[in-house]
Amino acid sequence: MTGSARSTGCVFCDALAAGGDDSLVVFRAPLSFIILNKYPYNNGHLMVVPNRHIALPSEATAAELAEIIALAARAEVVLRDAYAPHGLNMGINLGKPAGAGILDHLHMHVVPRWNGDTNFMTVVGETRVLPEELPVTAVRLRPIFEKLAH
Ligand SMILES: [Zn+2]
Repeated sequence: MTGSARSTGCVFCDALAAGGDDSLVVFRAPLSFIILNKYPYNNGHLMVVPNRHIALPSEATAAELAEIIALAARAEVVLRDAYAPHGLNMGINLGKPAGAGILDHLHMHVVPRWNGDTNFMTVVGETRVLPEELPVTAVRLRPIFEKLAH
C-alpha cells in the first residue's frame, strides 16, 4: 500500500483507496475492481470486488452485479491467456461456515485450477509453495486486462 492512504479497516477498501502499481489491484472498472488474493490458492488467484463496502449480493445494485460477472468473465480470458489452466473455480463465499475469510466486503473468487493441484495441496498441507511472487503476477496480468478493456 502507498503510505498516504488512511486505513479504513477493510483490506479491499484500503486497496481501492491506495492505488498505484505497488498495490495488488490489477484492474479497475467504474463500479468494481479486480485484486490478487494475498494468500492465493494457486498462481493467478483473483477476486472481483465491488467498490462499495457491501457484504452481500442482495445489497448490490443490478449494475454492480452485472459488472462483477462481466469482470469475472474477463478474468477468465486473462487467466487462460496468462496461465493456460486446465479449469477455473468462480465463486462467492458468504459467512464463516461457507469459508469466507473477509466477511464484510463482498468478493468473487476466480481461481485457476490444474489437473492434480488438489492432490498437491493435500500433500503440502498448510504450506503454499507457489513459484510466482504476487508483484510478478500483478505485472503479468495488468497489461492483459488493459488490452481487453480497449
Ligand atoms: Zn470494504
